Amino acid sequence: MSVVTRIAPSPTGDPHVGTAYIGLFNYVFAKKHGGKFILRIEDTDRERYNADSEMRIFKMMHWLGLNPDESPEIGGPNGPYQQSERLEIYKKHALDLVESGHLYPCFCSEERLLKLREEQKRRKQPLGYDGFCRNLSKEEAGACMAAGKEPYVLRLKAPSEGETVFRDELRGQIRFKNSDIRDGIMLKSDGYPTYHLANVIDDHLMGVTHVLRAEEWITSTPIHVLLYRAFGWDEPKFIHMPLLRNPDANKSKISKRKLDTSVDSYRDQGILPEALINFLGNMGWSMPDGREFFGLKDMIKEFSIERISLGGPVFDLKKLRFFNARYLRDILSLEDLAERVKPFLEAAGYDWDDEDYLLDILDILKSRAETLTEFVPHGAYFFHEDFSYDEQAKKKLAAGQKYLEDLEREFALLESYDEDSIDDLIHDYVQSQSVGMGKVLQPLRAALTGVSNSPSMTELISVLGKQRVLKRIGRALSYITAGLPDDKPQKPEAVKTGAVS
Ligand code: GLU
Repeated sequence: MSVVTRIAPSPTGDPHVGTAYIGLFNYVFAKKHGGKFILRIEDTDRERYNADSEMRIFKMMHWLGLNPDESPEIGGPNGPYQQSERLEIYKKHALDLVESGHLYPCFCSEERLLKLREEQKRRKQPLGYDGFCRNLSKEEAGACMAAGKEPYVLRLKAPSEGETVFRDELRGQIRFKNSDIRDGIMLKSDGYPTYHLANVIDDHLMGVTHVLRAEEWITSTPIHVLLYRAFGWDEPKFIHMPLLRNPDANKSKISKRKLDTSVDSYRDQGILPEALINFLGNMGWSMPDGREFFGLKDMIKEFSIERISLGGPVFDLKKLRFFNARYLRDILSLEDLAERVKPFLEAAGYDWDDEDYLLDILDILKSRAETLTEFVPHGAYFFHEDFSYDEQAKKKLAAGQKYLEDLEREFALLESYDEDSIDDLIHDYVQSQSVGMGKVLQPLRAALTGVSNSPSMTELISVLGKQRVLKRIGRALSYITAGLPDDKPQKPEAVKTGAVS
């Protein structure tokens, strides 16, 4: 049997990290077994539907490299892949179940249901439909439906006794008392199906063999199992993944109130898709050899559901950033890194005409950045000459005029700006002055960067090159003597109204 998996996100907001997580495991499981991975859109909740959100789910999946084999975008033999386009299919199947006695029409008014609910609350009874319409005879029900006077929904005729038992591949047998399964609505009066009915019909018709989803759906599974049995269809295998947790004390279910759950937002902050995938791959699963860093291909190669552990994996942002930093520093090639950083630098208004200059900059900055966006502030002084000096830097400049004047001459004479020559120059000069290294380097750093914290000076000088170094020292010296145009002392404020002179 060839494996078919799917995800079925609802397009209602920002593409969620939970969708990426479950998408990853579905993708990997399908690919491991040479099977297919389907992306279906559950858009039957028309009030919460958002077309933009749907597009962003497609984009997210491409960005992560989890490209489906069938989807609303690319189509496929089992389409349509948006549930709102499949209403006729649901209706036909629902009516089959009415015919076989597994669903029944319910004509109860909103008002009655509201009253029932209040009453159940008051008596502290479990909420749910009381089966008022359940025992209408087939003829009565059929006649009412045909008359079309009252709006009606179709409800599941859940067995009132016994148990519904199914197997979860990670947990073994799971049993639910049938008396806890209420006669839920399967088809609404507007012709839209509810989640359970649409989910089961689609999974069956699309040939889904493994339903791999988050554990919050376990309580829905007995309803699905009853539907499969009512239709006389084979059940898929169920694999319920542990839920991602907030990094709080009680490890609550991941939520956007406590954590940023939007994949787009991580992308915009400069998290790499490879890092996010790798991070999520470590959530509830581990490599047989224990290694933490791996790509999608490695994960597919080594994947087995036996290695899924059920403890609640915590979505720890610090760890995600740590993974990202590792990719920036050690795993991406410099050229690749440049391609990823460029859009961020361009958006910040930086430009450069020399590609090698950019690569050199990234090479010295990459060990200090955890995200792509951090290259923007860290790299600011590389891309323009009119940077300002921060307060610390101003102090260092003021104390370092003599050193800067000397170094301007020395650097003008230096032919080769390789790191060894720069190192020699600085050491010789510091020795000749009989001062500590810091006394000389601090004003020099301030002159070259405007800040007091930067990568190693030799690397920095070598990357900037002769022209920029001389220009920047010159600029710093004129600042020391004359101040920068925007840095002149402010004119004393005009006398404020009412002030006594
Ligand atoms: N629409 C559900 C979700 O958003 C699908 C659940 C399932 O996979 O059955 O996760």
